[in-house]
Amino acid sequence: MTTISATRMTSDLSTETLQHAAALLKQCRRPLLISHPRPDGDTIGSALALRLALLQMGKSPSLACVHPIPASIAYLPGAEIYVTDVPEDAGIDLVIAVDMSDLSRTGGIYKDGWRGKLPLLVIDHHATNDAFGDVNLVDPDAAATALPVAALIDALGIPLTGDMATCLLAGVLTDTRGLRTSNTTPEVLRFVSQLVEAGGDYSGVMEKSLDSVPYQQMRGWGIALERLQLDGELAWATFPLAEKIAFGIEDHDDLDLGNLLSRVAEAKIMATFLEMRDGTVKVSLRSRPGYNVAWIAKALEGGGHHQAAGCSVTGDLSVAQERVLTLAREELARHPCESSEAFARV
Ligand code: 5GP
Ligand code: MN
Repeated sequence: MTTISATRMTSDLSTETLQHAAALLKQCRRPLLISHPRPDGDTIGSALALRLALLQMGKSPSLACVHPIPASIAYLPGAEIYVTDVPEDAGIDLVIAVDMSDLSRTGGIYKDGWRGKLPLLVIDHHATNDAFGDVNLVDPDAAATALPVAALIDALGIPLTGDMATCLLAGVLTDTRGLRTSNTTPEVLRFVSQLVEAGGDYSGVMEKSLDSVPYQQMRGWGIALERLQLDGELAWATFPLAEKIAFGIEDHDDLDLGNLLSRVAEAKIMATFLEMRDGTVKVSLRSRPGYNVAWIAKALEGGGHHQAAGCSVTGDLSVAQERVLTLAREELARHPCESSEAFARV
């Protein structure tokens, strides 16, 4: 099967790639949509919007994510049908990876036996995407995967329903932290406005996905913030496993600490370290515009965007801090203007 990639702005996504992606959707009968572990509003909202389009086409889509769907996005239409695993012989005829930069981000849902037998469509917007699909609808300039998904639904000639628009809003509003990030372009604002015009529930998404923090999560923030440290322009916080256990925090819950720390005013780079039960540390990185954390995550076998990236480091908290903070200081030492070149090095 030929590998096809599109890597331009959503409005300019190559027509050829959109048509190849649309052809895969038209040909299939039982597609499986996969969302990434510790799911966020974009991986879930984008998959759910595409599921609704597939249902309109008379297909029988299924949805899988290795972790449970958090309350902040579980209200989206269709979220209740997610399963946490799929057998190799599930009878699917197309795999669609949504909002992830490499195959490992399916969290084990993608089975080795599917390789070469089932077509794989990747829909994503990560700068670190390695084009692991047969067709790669990847737009690293898009603020959310919701944008290439909307372009695909449009290419299929399917009109947006209110429910589809709400799911896409969840994607774009969460990935831009409520239209705050530097990639919130006029195109993104026009996209949001089109979604509202199509009947999307803007205020509902804002309220449920961005403005509601479960009590237990907010208490977890308290614990993490007690450990907040600032060294020059570098801020970080750790969450030791013992405290997670004492507090009843599961490994699939990262308390959205990365986005919380992204607001430390003095910092240009922010990092959070959550110790996991499997001997790894989940690292979330955030940066101010001009500073690039994607290459740091990629160097540690993770990935992400220039301003928001993550990885899992084997070892305890001190090992992870040493490795990540060293690279973060390297990035800080560079002139901000040079930081985009850093990404080209990995
Ligand atoms: P977060 O820090 O919120 O987990 O993730 C920030 C961004 O980096 C998201 O776009 C997420 O998909 C990506 N990301 C987080 N962890 C990993 C990882 O372990 N591997 C890869 N490839 N991407 C990650
Ligand atoms: Mn995303």
